[in-house]
Amino acid sequence: MDDTYDHIVVGAGTAGCALAYQLSRESTNRVLLLEAGGRDSHPMIHIPLGFAFLMKHKDINWCYQTEPEPELQNRRIDWPRGRVLGGCSSINGMVHIRGQREDFDHWASLGNRGWSYDELLPYFKHHEHNAKGSNRYRGVGGPLWVDEVPCQFDMSALFVKAAIDEGLAFNEDFNGATEDGVGYFQVNIKRGRRQSTAVAYLKPIRKRTNLTVQTHALTTRVLFEDDRAVGVSYRHTRRGGGSVTARCKGEVILCGGAINSPQLLELSGIGDQARLASGGVAVKQHLPGVGENLQDHLTVNICQGLKGINTYYEEVKPLRFLENLLQYIFARRGMLAFPSAQVGAFFRTDPQVERPDAQIHFAPAAGEYNDKGTMVTVPGTTATVCYLRPSSRGSVHIQSDDPTQHPAICANYLSSENDRQHLIAGVKKTRAIFASPVLEKHRTSELLPGDNVQSDEEILDYIRREAVSVYHPVGTCKMGNDGMAVVDDRLRVRGVSGLRIADASVMPTILSGNTNAACIVIADKCADMILEDRRS
Ligand SMILES: Cc1cc2nc3c(=O)[nH]c(=O)nc-3n(C[C@H](O)[C@H](O)[C@H](O)COP(=O)(O)OP(=O)(O)OC[C@H]3O[C@@H](n4cnc5c(N)ncnc54)[C@H](O)[C@@H]3O)c2cc1C
Repeated sequence: MDDTYDHIVVGAGTAGCALAYQLSRESTNRVLLLEAGGRDSHPMIHIPLGFAFLMKHKDINWCYQTEPEPELQNRRIDWPRGRVLGGCSSINGMVHIRGQREDFDHWASLGNRGWSYDELLPYFKHHEHNAKGSNRYRGVGGPLWVDEVPCQFDMSALFVKAAIDEGLAFNEDFNGATEDGVGYFQVNIKRGRRQSTAVAYLKPIRKRTNLTVQTHALTTRVLFEDDRAVGVSYRHTRRGGGSVTARCKGEVILCGGAINSPQLLELSGIGDQARLASGGVAVKQHLPGVGENLQDHLTVNICQGLKGINTYYEEVKPLRFLENLLQYIFARRGMLAFPSAQVGAFFRTDPQVERPDAQIHFAPAAGEYNDKGTMVTVPGTTATVCYLRPSSRGSVHIQSDDPTQHPAICANYLSSENDRQHLIAGVKKTRAIFASPVLEKHRTSELLPGDNVQSDEEILDYIRREAVSVYHPVGTCKMGNDGMAVVDDRLRVRGVSGLRIADASVMPTILSGNTNAACIVIADKCADMILEDRRS
């Protein structure tokens, strides 16, 4: 097959599905959407609590790991990434958070025109259908369903009370006027089913004849004529792995995510000249920022033992589990319809900080490893806390010119003293919430980190042993106009033409919150800019 399209979108993940949807609205626009993974037919993708089964599922997950992390006792940290229609939105925790106004205003202050909060708010409103209706901050009628967690555990309500007791304000809409405080997450779950971007954006438009979705298509290189991107090469991994060329008249847009978009640029000869030359890749364009500026949220669990109150521990006992299963099958309710976290809190690690810089994801569940190394639920609850604006920076780079070899990911977690101190403060605050008199009746011992961990040094040691990723890598093809910027504020790759990037990799700095919703906004804005530029 050697075909010609108007646009080629590489990667049908969170951003890629939204972008393909927008670009193919004009019926004369022929769009090819290439996805390395397969269709989203695995049932666990669609059952919200099923996400726990997808973390190491090699058929639908790239199953990346970082290199040994020096500040985390040289542990390799798991980085699941969706390799399936919907990308990470098919395996993520479904928590719907936009980030803080100041995050986007900061992007704009770096010289990125059009990226301030006020300029992006219409996009955030436009892409959602908020089950609670519209207001100044919320939208209705968009493809993406946003709702509250269907029913809550008493323990969730108690955690909210305990956080209020500890000085946090109740926040009824983290995506409204402020993210500050404690409250219930909104989620991308519609009547008990996950709303990935494959479900919300691609499914309703499967009859559009101008959109071709090609799965099992591992894109290996962007093709250029002179300095203009004119298509891509990809391997059909289910049909013998032969190489296919697809050409386009308009633009190629990379939506491979924060790991794979820089990988694909480097495989195509765009990156740091010396690095590419030493890897045997012919240099097309020297862009030293490709794969640099990697940022992620690192999180650590505080598990509190409980008695006399319902948690997942009771819900997974055989009879209750059967009830939950039947409830899910017949009414799409119960435990199986829950997202990864039901309650959230955004707070300051230091009263002097001007806006929240730490986030808690809370779930009425706790687990412990038994002597066979298997995780079993125990009567307890978990609040996992992360520092939201780390100053540590890492990198993602190819290790060879083989597109099937995983790139080397160095997150460099906790490489700055700032990040270590803020995470220690976050742990202390989370413990203070669990110590609230509100929980007196139900509290047993602290399961993690445990009473023997008290001093800052002991807490830091615990973090080094146990912290994991919140799975929010961003920034590896950052937008901007300094020497390390990879795309400009219209998301065009610098130094070449006909090539843009629209995914988490273009964020210059990480958001103070979860990253999925902003990736959709990046895609929607990219589509507008492509169509605008074409018209002009
Ligand atoms: C386990 C987990 C839990 C998370 N929980 C939340 C949450 O609760 N809330 C939230 O807001 N965010 C969450 N996130 C983060 C959020 O989902 C991501 O930030 C977001 O999905 C990233 O979108 P993206 O478009 O940049 O990349 P992705 O969604 O990763 O899409 C990239 C797509 O490109 C494809 N691809 C890559 N390389 C190629 C290639 N060479 N050829 C063809 N196709 C290719 C991939 O297979 C993938 O489908 C979570 C992430 C994970 C992994």
